[in-house]
Amino acid sequence: MYFDENTVLFLDGKWLKAAETKTSLYNQTLHYGNGVFEGIRSYETEHGPAIFKAKEHYERLLFSAKTMYIDLPYSVAELIQLSYELLQKNNLQNAYIRPLVYLGETMHLNPSEEVHVLLTAWEWDNYLGHQQIKLMTSPYQRPNPKAFHVEAKVTGHYANSILASTHAKRQGYDEALLLDMNGHVAEGPGANFFYEKEGVLYTCPCGSILPGITRATMFELCEQFEIPLKERYFTPEEVRGADAAFFVGTAAEVAGIYSLDDVPFTLEWEDSLGYQLYKAYQREVLEVEPVYIF
Ligand code: PMP
Repeated sequence: MYFDENTVLFLDGKWLKAAETKTSLYNQTLHYGNGVFEGIRSYETEHGPAIFKAKEHYERLLFSAKTMYIDLPYSVAELIQLSYELLQKNNLQNAYIRPLVYLGETMHLNPSEEVHVLLTAWEWDNYLGHQQIKLMTSPYQRPNPKAFHVEAKVTGHYANSILASTHAKRQGYDEALLLDMNGHVAEGPGANFFYEKEGVLYTCPCGSILPGITRATMFELCEQFEIPLKERYFTPEEVRGADAAFFVGTAAEVAGIYSLDDVPFTLEWEDSLGYQLYKAYQREVLEVEPVYIF
């Protein structure tokens, strides 16, 4: 699904066939989760494939690397250009781009100085599907922000996301909603959370979440469309039975939620502010002008 015999990827300055690429089984990222990554989308526009918020994503990659004491040998501008080349080489338009920074061999607990940069891409439909989803409040909290740089996209953090998501699915739900250490709603395993009550949207402040680039886009769109949006802490009790709710993220885009802990939201998705934002986001991603400098 992610690659076939024709897929070309970028690894450490070279363009290689994905099917023929190897990595060490002794690398630090595999053993201890010390690596950083991004999830980026490109969209087919009238000017060719355009990467949405490319600069923001690569700035975050560099930021994430810095939090883990990893020095990246590429600039934001270089990574953007390489990403466009990657799309071109694989003949991709609507694609998901996955940059991964992984480290070399060491079993010690300081970062290996061998830094590998991988860029790969594939076609990926909305990862939460197109149906409204059933959520459950997870018994797994988001990591303590004093234990991790939770605002960075570090591979090891995703063990927490996998745990919460797998647990929710085994209970018969589509996805989990994770709380922070104080019992306030934080976010989903791979997306930020918003809910609507009496014409106002709410989302939690930064602190225990990955501050998403799509979340920031929602703030911009709310301002543009004069949709009231408040950042504040709230509990799952306040969310259950509210008017509507949705997840936002690069992979999820804007995904409507049907219920939380079996209590449905009262509005039809199509009548909600989230749906307006979903439509606006679909337009916004097509307005990007691609910048190629080969
Ligand atoms: N939270 C988590 C834990 C995520 O993994 C993601 C996906 N990167 C998001 C939020 C949404 O972030 P973005 O909008 O930047 O994709």
